[in-house]
Amino acid sequence: MSERVPGFSTLAIHAGAQPDPSTGARATPIYQTTSFVFDDVDHAASLFGLQAFGNIYTRIGNPTTAVLEERVAALEGGTAALAVASGHSAQLLAFHAVMQPGDNIVAANKLYGGSINQLNHSFKNFGWEVKWADPDDLNSFEAAIDENTKAIFIESLANPGGIVTDMSSISALAKAKRIPLIVDNTMATPYLCRPIEHGADIVVHSLTKFIGGHGNSMGGIIVDGGSFDWSADDRFPMLSQPRPEYQGIVLHETFGNFAFAIACRVLGLRDLGPAISPFNAFMILTGLETLPLRMQRHCDNAKKVALHLAGHDKVSWVSYAGLPDDKHHSLQQKYMPKGAGAVFTFGVQGGYDAGVRLVSNTDLFSHLANIGDTRSLIIHPASTTHRQLSDDQKTVAGAGPDVVRVSIGLEDVEDIIADLDQALAND
Ligand SMILES: *Cc1c(COP(=O)(O)O)cnc(C)c1O
Repeated sequence: MSERVPGFSTLAIHAGAQPDPSTGARATPIYQTTSFVFDDVDHAASLFGLQAFGNIYTRIGNPTTAVLEERVAALEGGTAALAVASGHSAQLLAFHAVMQPGDNIVAANKLYGGSINQLNHSFKNFGWEVKWADPDDLNSFEAAIDENTKAIFIESLANPGGIVTDMSSISALAKAKRIPLIVDNTMATPYLCRPIEHGADIVVHSLTKFIGGHGNSMGGIIVDGGSFDWSADDRFPMLSQPRPEYQGIVLHETFGNFAFAIACRVLGLRDLGPAISPFNAFMILTGLETLPLRMQRHCDNAKKVALHLAGHDKVSWVSYAGLPDDKHHSLQQKYMPKGAGAVFTFGVQGGYDAGVRLVSNTDLFSHLANIGDTRSLIIHPASTTHRQLSDDQKTVAGAGPDVVRVSIGLEDVEDIIADLDQALAND
């Protein structure tokens, strides 16, 4: 083997995988088994004691899933990764490793709607608070941080409004305050943006979206950037204090720059349990092989559609960071110059009723609540995902009555544009 560092497309196909040692199978096999036979009693003891790496039980690890983990870690430039059942469970386990009751997360207020619910409501049951900050105003992050802040949480490219977050500035603040920066990179994917290079300590993904890419499998992943010093003080006891169930091992001392990924696996995943199925790991691995090709086409199509809509007389505004006059265009050029992703919002003339008619009139677009499929997707948030909010709350959340969100797929862009045109003309 040469010493060349493989490029992104090569890693997307090869990282973590090798021909199956027992059969020669070239594609990664689906190890559809719950458990693995020990060599002998000593081997079992060393696996359970974290003295040796190996397979015990699929809730904690699986060889198909391990290839996915190694591959995403390589693509993100992290030290290790842990794949789990969904994007939301990746967030849960990442926070579980750093939070104690009474601690808080400072989070961007423009996040995927499900993440806002998770932080606002469900995490309260663990005694975890959230303090919201504005991704367009760095000072609001600084103002929200207090001595119980154990994580800063942002999206690199925020769903749905096409907001690009100034990661380096937030990372500088996080480093000054010694707080880990956790970045949800779902909408950008490592093809467009690698948050660890901009100072993120941990990256999380919903693999359900562009990484799997075909709208057929749920998954999530946590990538350890390996950069955070968990034992500089006693604020992160899961990583810096002896673990009673593992003979007093201190995870950070034992596992160094991948201790966070280990903590998420041997404490969070072991005890909370949201394991990904080996079949889903296989489906997502298959999707991942074409990520660079798909993502570039998603972005190219989305930009053409956004430009077309910006000039359409039934469209009042388009929010897409890839448009030269967009508020976030210069940040997009800095953090994700290859493209601004595939998801954006626009406003239809005629408000709520026009939005409802548009999603009803499309043929090629599927009317549903997802993003990151090969297919083009459309939704009117005010009548669906955000319908329980008041009108004011809807507008603050970027889901006002006229807002339509699209996730542009991989079809011929002329067909995508023609479908929107006919649906708008039928209004
Ligand atoms: C979908 C999504 C999630 C949640 O992921 P699931 O796989 O649906 O649990 C989190 N963040 C973003 C940005 C998403 O788009």
